[in-house]
Amino acid sequence: MITATQLYNAVQCPHRVALDAFGNPADRDEPNAFIELLWEQGLAHEASVVASLGVTANMSLVPEQEREAQTLDAMRRGEPLIFGGRISHGDKVGIPDLLKLRGNGYAAGDIKAGSGFDGDAEEGKLKKHYAVQISHYTNILEGLNVSDGSREPFIVDRTGQEVPYPLSAPQGVRNTVSWWDSYQIVLNDVRSLLAGTATSRPAMSAGCKLCHWYRHCKETLIGSNDLTLIAELGRSKRDTIAAALPTVAALARCNPEQFFEGGKTVFPGIGRDTLIKFHERAKLLATPNARPYLKKALTLPVAQHEVYFDIEADPMADIVYLHGFVERPHGQPAQARFAPYFADGTAPECEEQVFAQAWRYLCARVQDSIVYYYSPYERTAYKKLAKTYPTVCSVEDVEALFALPAMIDLYLDVIKKCTEWPTYDQSIKTLAQYLGFHWRDTHPSGAASIEWYHRWIETGDLAIKQRILDYNEDDCLATGVVVDGVRTLTLRGA
Ligand code: SF4
Repeated sequence: MITATQLYNAVQCPHRVALDAFGNPADRDEPNAFIELLWEQGLAHEASVVASLGVTANMSLVPEQEREAQTLDAMRRGEPLIFGGRISHGDKVGIPDLLKLRGNGYAAGDIKAGSGFDGDAEEGKLKKHYAVQISHYTNILEGLNVSDGSREPFIVDRTGQEVPYPLSAPQGVRNTVSWWDSYQIVLNDVRSLLAGTATSRPAMSAGCKLCHWYRHCKETLIGSNDLTLIAELGRSKRDTIAAALPTVAALARCNPEQFFEGGKTVFPGIGRDTLIKFHERAKLLATPNARPYLKKALTLPVAQHEVYFDIEADPMADIVYLHGFVERPHGQPAQARFAPYFADGTAPECEEQVFAQAWRYLCARVQDSIVYYYSPYERTAYKKLAKTYPTVCSVEDVEALFALPAMIDLYLDVIKKCTEWPTYDQSIKTLAQYLGFHWRDTHPSGAASIEWYHRWIETGDLAIKQRILDYNEDDCLATGVVVDGVRTLTLRGA
């Protein structure tokens, strides 16, 4: 039977669906505490939303073996709102959170702890992985002849708002395939994978690090010298060029000009500059002891002090709980000092208080320092905080501060634009570790920090708080290590 979860996973990675069905369980990684936390938080959120919705039939209380029959009975009775029902038709099965009576039939809905829109926005494009799930329920309802016929299921988002998902609408201006047709494609792909009539391959992506097949897939990818080991290349570009250039080594050996055609390349969607960039990265990966280099001239500004800045945020509790700064006199790493602003609770006043402290610190430091942060995340989070707490500063104040020449996005303005590295990605962890930096924690990650923060809130254990602070301090120090490393790079060929 094909489940909505399999479709959700297939949108992220079809190989995950295949491995979950046919992989060797011994190859799976240990359960990830952050994923378990997400699961628990999702259930807690679901319970709190359900309590306010006026559910008239709660199927989650019914023994599993009777749940499907009782769900059908509840729909026959015309229950206005059914929670946790089980429905199936043909080879499809689903457990929609909600079945809502609209007119003479039912529409399906799911309760989510995030935004109903892509990129965690308040409105905009729908999320494809949500769309395939609720399309699946809608398909089953139609097969059972109990649908309301609207093909407009819904998501109840983290604020409790209902976000309609009109499945007959196109996915966007460029991609005019409807959500419903796109669901049918994913459904057929999953059907073929599970029937063994199609195969899948792993592909390195940002999502892999949270997947329970990560170690297994990484070994496979390294073993096959897969193109997705090249930073930012990804599954779809790999699949576009793999027939001509199947491995990192093959791409490294080629002359990219042989694939130029007019102003483009023979590979649809891959321009000349992109192919040259991946060729350079392939050469770095394929060359033993290759060194990183500057691909364009770069001089980092010098001020009396440098500050390395990193925040920790919890998307589930929707809180920025730590603003960390490491400051040091220019060129004197031994004199580095850590200045953390830590929220001792999840209440808005706690978040506002540490935001105000961090904002004052940043405004003072930027007078005599160069401030480095890694990726636009800090700027985006500060704009959101300013919107929530306008007495601290305005969104315009944040824009103005981050526009100062002394505020440098090390990832976007320096690493991405001006450097190349012999690494599989360009995350701060990967680059700092490449340069010899070690985190004190054995399992450092932003996701782990969120899980620790939840445990600190629950227990008040000071050792957990210190672990969070140490991790954040190391992230800031790592930013400094990468700044120092960039200063030692020379221009390619120089
Ligand atoms: S580790 Fe990556 S490639 Fe492998 S199954 Fe998971 S998401 Fe897919």
